[in-house]
Amino acid sequence: MSEKTLPKRARAVVVGGGVIGCSTAYHLAKLGWEDVVLLERKQISCGTTWHAAGLITTLRDTEAQTRMAQYSLQLYSELEAETGQATGFINCGSLQMAASLEKAEEMRRGCAMARTFGVENREVTPAEVKELFPLAYVDDLVAGFYFPDDGRVNPADVAQALAKGARKRGVNIIENCKVTEVLFAGERAVGVQTENGDITAEVVILCPGMWGREVGLSAGVDIPLQAAEHYYLISEPIEGLHNNLPILRDPGRAAYAREEAGKILLGFFEPVAAPWGVDGIPDNFCFDEIQPDWERMEPHLERGMGRLPILLDTGIRQLFCGPESFTPDHNYLMGRAPFKENLYIACGFNSLGILSGGGAGNVMAQWINDGIQPMDIWDVDIRRIQPFHNNKSFVVDRIYESLGIAYQMHWPNRQWDSARNVKQSILHDRLAAAGACFGESAGWERPNWYALTEQKAEYEYDFGRQNWFDNNRAEHMAVREAVGVFEQSSFTKLLIQGRDACSVLNQIATAEIDVMIGNVVYTQFLNRRGGVEADLTITRLAQDCYLLVTAAFTQIHVHAWIHENIPVDAFCLVTDVTGSYAMLSVQGPNSRALLSSISSTDFSNTNFPFGTMKNIEIGYQNAMAIRLSYTGELGWELYVPTEMALPVYDQLIAAGKEHGLKHCGYHTLNTLRIEKAYREWAHDMGPLETLLEAGLGFTAAWDKAGGFIGRDALVAQRDAGVLKRRLVQFLLDDPEPILARNESILREGERVGYTMSSGYAHTLGACAALGYVNHDEGVTPEFITQGRYTIEQANRSYTARASLMPMYDPKSIRTRS
Ligand SMILES: Cc1cc2nc3c(=O)[nH]c(=O)nc-3n(C[C@H](O)[C@H](O)[C@H](O)COP(=O)(O)OP(=O)(O)OC[C@H]3O[C@@H](n4cnc5c(N)ncnc54)[C@H](O)[C@@H]3O)c2cc1C
Repeated sequence: MSEKTLPKRARAVVVGGGVIGCSTAYHLAKLGWEDVVLLERKQISCGTTWHAAGLITTLRDTEAQTRMAQYSLQLYSELEAETGQATGFINCGSLQMAASLEKAEEMRRGCAMARTFGVENREVTPAEVKELFPLAYVDDLVAGFYFPDDGRVNPADVAQALAKGARKRGVNIIENCKVTEVLFAGERAVGVQTENGDITAEVVILCPGMWGREVGLSAGVDIPLQAAEHYYLISEPIEGLHNNLPILRDPGRAAYAREEAGKILLGFFEPVAAPWGVDGIPDNFCFDEIQPDWERMEPHLERGMGRLPILLDTGIRQLFCGPESFTPDHNYLMGRAPFKENLYIACGFNSLGILSGGGAGNVMAQWINDGIQPMDIWDVDIRRIQPFHNNKSFVVDRIYESLGIAYQMHWPNRQWDSARNVKQSILHDRLAAAGACFGESAGWERPNWYALTEQKAEYEYDFGRQNWFDNNRAEHMAVREAVGVFEQSSFTKLLIQGRDACSVLNQIATAEIDVMIGNVVYTQFLNRRGGVEADLTITRLAQDCYLLVTAAFTQIHVHAWIHENIPVDAFCLVTDVTGSYAMLSVQGPNSRALLSSISSTDFSNTNFPFGTMKNIEIGYQNAMAIRLSYTGELGWELYVPTEMALPVYDQLIAAGKEHGLKHCGYHTLNTLRIEKAYREWAHDMGPLETLLEAGLGFTAAWDKAGGFIGRDALVAQRDAGVLKRRLVQFLLDDPEPILARNESILREGERVGYTMSSGYAHTLGACAALGYVNHDEGVTPEFITQGRYTIEQANRSYTARASLMPMYDPKSIRTRS
């Protein structure tokens, strides 16, 4: 292309002409956006899109991912009629196979969840699998699962159809035009520089596929992804094959299959992958393939072909290898770039880009158009990413494992094996010596549970009670009856400082922040729809200084949220001090006596009431003690300068013996907080649930001067009368089962919602869960108490009790004792 044909300005510039870029441009145009320009460095679909296998399977891990896949399926079935460009869409259905009891259980749970989200499916016997796909070997199968609505497409044609639909609506698609830089005015993206000249734009959307990391680095955004070899083989023709054969997905053999023009296409998700283009993708890459590594793939081919034994006697026409980008947590990277304005990202689709492409483009376009996300996509939101994720060695080492994870067992609490020990607390070795079994969150190694001396500190995964169940019970009961210590140094800690710190925070937070020095406030940040964007505590340390504490995995999101809401003329600075303090949370009825034995501070209710902070001394060391509880018991969080944490910990442990002190892990924090119905952001509430629906209206200072972001929406909801959706605590009647999440909740036999999080409530004696109940006529307390509830897991139903108030210590007497 020449400089002359490049427009000087556009309303939106989309970078990348794969399925994601085309879909985003198409949907922006559909929303009425004019002057949208899509820039593609070579040709439409020439990156990864052209060679994808085109499976559109709607059983996904989360609601957001399911909804995006469902949307794609619908869109692709209609695109040809709309654009005249064929997409190869065939509604052939799909079959997922389980060759072990564990996989069958996982599938039954997944299928039940999918039904909750409206994805039709049914379990079938191995014999029925054979009927649906006569060439399949079924003797090793435990069960099959049939999804009649699933389908397949020709991905290159889908991209072309989206491009054609976009062009029809006025999008200017320019090929052979590489974007070399995103242009900024401060933090605001104002256009792009290309090899052929600059374009100014109101919004820039980066959809550069496997080039994402490189493009991100040039724009100052962490986009951690890495290309890897990704394979399928095409057989010689096989007589009698027809294109309505369902797609086969065979996790046990890390393989999938479908008909392809009278042949079989057999694809692989091998457990140990091979990163590709680690030192950079060749500049002239365009519809290219990778030389297949036959030797590495041979065992996988053999295993996969065993599912369709006819392949063992049929020649292989081609072993195709193409690069696809994978991310460190096997989730996409979408949304608004943190700390930037008008810059959006959508890439890193982990071999799910075709099936999510329609939906992802739709979400992106709506987000850009409305300035707010249309659905809760936290699991794929770019704001979950921290700088360490983008460390080259980390990304590459994790990608070996990340590709294959899709087809492996998705055990509850499953941990990554690769790229571990990114962040360790100063107390790590002490905790390991105490028996900690570490789990990873936001790069931190955190004690999830503590093994006994004779036990290995290792997970034995199971869908029922895992090997740490009894350890958890003992830890849980120690906190209820004596005292426990939780090492929580990973928690995000931000200092908000400056003469306008108070007014800035007061605008963002629901609660009154202009409190006395030393007071602690539990509060939320809301978006303008009243949806919950963050859940945190804020302690006033000085007139112009606040300490904000929130979950480790929300570090970037919360920091960016404050940053974006500081008016340009305000004097207010945010500093991340997470690493400067270790945090030990001492919880339980004996916590007062224990802390009194190592500190001269008066920990009595009168001197040190709930929701306050004091600087205390422990031996020669200093700490900030904050009286709070996420356990439902009397307790204090100790924020100790990192360099003083070891001696403080040693004194605590030594003195703890007399008070029944027990090391407690994050699983115990979870079971305690679920029992007390304390919420966790991104689990029990998110941008789509309002403060009132989440049951946290008590934090709102309705009448504070200047209001707060989201107040208007909240007031409208409050004034409209009774809520149609509310978070409710459930307790199973049967003490045996272990719930996870996304299980359907039925009231009087009717589906009213699904579970958000769960944990074994050891004091109450059964598994508890939090979940939303929806009812258009209003979710009143009577509606909750007068219903009979069951919770569905896999193909089982459990009766449950429901309550709007916490079932454990509803009046919070213990935390204030
Ligand atoms: C073997 C194989 C099988 C697969 N099977 C399936 C499947 O069955 N179902 C499914 O859902 N997914 C499948 N996938 C995954 C799917 O193909 C991808 O997730 C999807 O194509 C990614 O789309 P994208 O638009 O993000 O990336 P791409 O298609 O790579 O598009 C990115 C585009 O951006 C352009 N670009 C990059 N940098 C710049 C720049 N600086 N300036 C301008 N343009 C730029 C590139 O040239 C490229 O065209 C498969 C992938 C492989 C490899």
